[in-house]
Amino acid sequence: MHVVVLGAGLAGLSSAFELLKAGHRVTVIEKESYAGGMACSWKKGEYWLDHGPHRFHSRDEKLIEHLYEILDNEVVIRERLSRIYMQGKFFHYPLKTQNLFQMKKSLMIKAMWDYVWIRFVQIFKKIPDDNFENWVVKRFGHTLYEIFFGSYTSKAWKMPCTQISADWASQRISQANLWDTVKKTLRPPKGGEVRSLVSEFWYPAVGGIGQIGRKYAEKIEKMGGTLQLSSPADEVIIEDGRATRVGFTSKGEKKWVECDHVVNTIPLPRILQAFRPAVGSDVKKAIGNLDYSAIVFVYLEVDKPSVSPDHWVYLPEKHLTVHRISEFKNFSDDSAPGDSTCVCCEMTCRVGDDLWNLDIEAATEIAIKDLVTLGLIEPGTARGLDFTKLKYAYPIYDLTYKENLNVLKKEVKRVKNLHTTGRQGLYRYNNMDHSIAMGRRIAKTLIQGADARADEVAAGQEYFG
Ligand SMILES: Cc1cc2nc3c(=O)[nH]c(=O)nc-3n(C[C@H](O)[C@H](O)[C@H](O)COP(=O)(O)OP(=O)(O)OC[C@H]3O[C@@H](n4cnc5c(N)ncnc54)[C@H](O)[C@@H]3O)c2cc1C
Repeated sequence: MHVVVLGAGLAGLSSAFELLKAGHRVTVIEKESYAGGMACSWKKGEYWLDHGPHRFHSRDEKLIEHLYEILDNEVVIRERLSRIYMQGKFFHYPLKTQNLFQMKKSLMIKAMWDYVWIRFVQIFKKIPDDNFENWVVKRFGHTLYEIFFGSYTSKAWKMPCTQISADWASQRISQANLWDTVKKTLRPPKGGEVRSLVSEFWYPAVGGIGQIGRKYAEKIEKMGGTLQLSSPADEVIIEDGRATRVGFTSKGEKKWVECDHVVNTIPLPRILQAFRPAVGSDVKKAIGNLDYSAIVFVYLEVDKPSVSPDHWVYLPEKHLTVHRISEFKNFSDDSAPGDSTCVCCEMTCRVGDDLWNLDIEAATEIAIKDLVTLGLIEPGTARGLDFTKLKYAYPIYDLTYKENLNVLKKEVKRVKNLHTTGRQGLYRYNNMDHSIAMGRRIAKTLIQGADARADEVAAGQEYFG
């Protein structure tokens, strides 16, 4: 069996790895000149840089074992720390009861009153879970929604929270409501429950998060797999409901590869646009209705050993352009020298808008200004180290995304030997562990000829960290 895998992110690589292990022929076609996809890393001077903060966490022990196998046991375990920084104070995230006591007394009383009030109101009239704002307000009250959830979310998504699907809230907020937050703070769950997922994570000891992708690529090539880098796939020939050939461009030349199966991990709208014959107008319309949020990353070198102990810090205040910062040094000692640090500043945007069009100088100036305003760095102590952009960073879960996505899913299912998976292949807001699990399950399905239920990974209302 010859399997063509589209995309060398973690979903594509893990799938290729398992297929090769089982003795099948595999060709991986990747647009970029490197493997790892969004979870790649690159070296700049003395620093390893990632696409924003990447923590690997999972409750699946077998998956953790797999990670150790891929990384040849070169793994570090870290205690998670991520907080919200506003009004000159750090607040815990996910929300903890202590946050209430960090607030001004009057605000704390208002927050508690709002919560009691919203619970009372709902005895008579249930608030529907029909958008992000309603989902949170009904569980935490208006004040906490405004302070801890609404302001950050609308800033990061660049849209009002009433236009964001409640699915996103249920996946991303780990507590059921304020009372649940209080209970979890007073009596944290034991063992393998949510808390262990939240409090610990795994990271490569060397080479940044991209070491996972690099190690997969190394092992894939050792097993005889073909890794075709710098080769965007642009056509899939479909005959009698089956994909028979995939076309890609390499060094300016059009090339074709025959296939028995295709594992797709490139963005779902893009693979459908590559179908020959082309998809119908209803599918084209649904594709046009699905959008992505992009990210501009600015990497600053700062002349002090540390800016904060956090892995990342959310910055919800609207007068700042940067919405999150992270420090790779806190993930692994190998990521930065001892006497200085690198702060990664993220700014969400849409492809083509003013932020997306910034150049490195302008973006660096904004990032430095924001960090100085916050008092996290002193003027004259930071400079631009690097700059990068990610086009397909987050699928946008607006109020109609599900209908449009269902049209795309139905269309792709028509091609019996094309299996779409991973964050991009499913338009799903999932993490690295999920992408690896999906890729491995697709491989298992092909190897065993029985459905290993890749679609069920990260499909429920689970907590995504
Ligand atoms: C800012 C940020 C922070 C994150 N933090 C975390 C975290 O802390 N923990 C966590 O677990 N996850 C995190 N994630 C999510 C994680 O990065 C992804 O879940 C995972 O990397 C997705 O892997 P994938 O293979 O499914 O997709 P991708 O990595 O997107 O892989 C798809 C691949 O397809 C390639 N491709 C696209 N078009 C074509 C084409 N036409 N032809 C050939 N190849 C093509 C791409 O170049 C890419 O290599 C984060 C994501 C972002 C954006």
